[in-house]
Amino acid sequence: MSRKKISSATRRAFAARLLAWYGDHKRDLPWRRDAHDPYRVWISETLLQQTQVATVIPYYARFLARFPTVRALAAARLDDVLKVWEGVGYYARARNLHRAAQEIATRFGGEIPGTVEELLTLPGVGRYTAGAVASIAFGRDEPALDGNVTRVICRYFHIARDPKGAEARNLLWELVQQLLPRGNAGAFNQALMELGATVCAPRQPACSACPLQRGCAARRLGIQEQLPIKRRKKKLPHHQVAVGVVWKGKKLLIAQRYTQDLLGGLWEFPGGHQEQGESLARCVAREVREEVGIAIKVGKEFATVNHAYSHFSITMHAFDCHWLRGRPRALGCAAVKWVLPRELARYAFPAANRKIITNLIG
Ligand code: SF4
Repeated sequence: MSRKKISSATRRAFAARLLAWYGDHKRDLPWRRDAHDPYRVWISETLLQQTQVATVIPYYARFLARFPTVRALAAARLDDVLKVWEGVGYYARARNLHRAAQEIATRFGGEIPGTVEELLTLPGVGRYTAGAVASIAFGRDEPALDGNVTRVICRYFHIARDPKGAEARNLLWELVQQLLPRGNAGAFNQALMELGATVCAPRQPACSACPLQRGCAARRLGIQEQLPIKRRKKKLPHHQVAVGVVWKGKKLLIAQRYTQDLLGGLWEFPGGHQEQGESLARCVAREVREEVGIAIKVGKEFATVNHAYSHFSITMHAFDCHWLRGRPRALGCAAVKWVLPRELARYAFPAANRKIITNLIG
């Protein structure tokens, strides 16, 4: 794909119109009040990946109240970090924040580094987050390209290529780099993101309210909604999963997922995928035996929950079960515990398990 050289007149007009619009229209978001604090910028940018602003606001406040500094986060137990993150999804983000905080404490003396190169060495920090933290918190002339910015740039410059492809991606980074007004990259990056989030929406962009309407190629051609080009989505696989809520007296059994797995570090009821030709009840008995090494009596299915993840979806069948024999051991999980129902609130569970808990104890 050919390089695009943007004229200095276009660059100046683009930045001036965008920044003037941002000055008048930016939303009052909590992390914007904390933009001088790299820890807060890093936490907000991590939360905002794949999560809507309205959902992020209360989690941001809770996270900072619980872990107000990098050192507090580094010293925390992963279980506690996951508990505060419970419900946001994409738990790798929380595990990476925790590991990165520990690295910042040991490698950088507890201070978040200010260059993109150093930021990129931290777990979970990609080019976007590094650019956002470096420009917003440290005032460096670094671009930040997220989904919202990608949409604006693809439309403005009429980039009719899948932006997930390597070539188009490089071109987009190059364009935002060229557009950056020196010395004001933090505001410029936030303004572009804000425009994508509030005006240049995926559907029915509000072009008549857009500060960039004059130079926008997609608007001129009337093809706004056709850009960015999307890959055709594959149909997601669907799995049947059976889990056992295993009682022994007043306690029930929970197991912790391996840290490196999807939803790693979270707790759940033991169980797993149904095999071909296997009944759900047999599946529960087998999975519980393999995962925690005990024999159980499988009772009635009392809850059925559907849940979609990014790459697959499940129907989870929950069975009321009773312990028969054996001492639970972590054979196919990281840890196993007997807990009272009221103690479940202390542990972080994935969304599908949470729905089962609600069904169980209201
Ligand atoms: S004019 Fe319309 S399509 Fe172009 S950047 Fe603005 S909102 Fe997006």
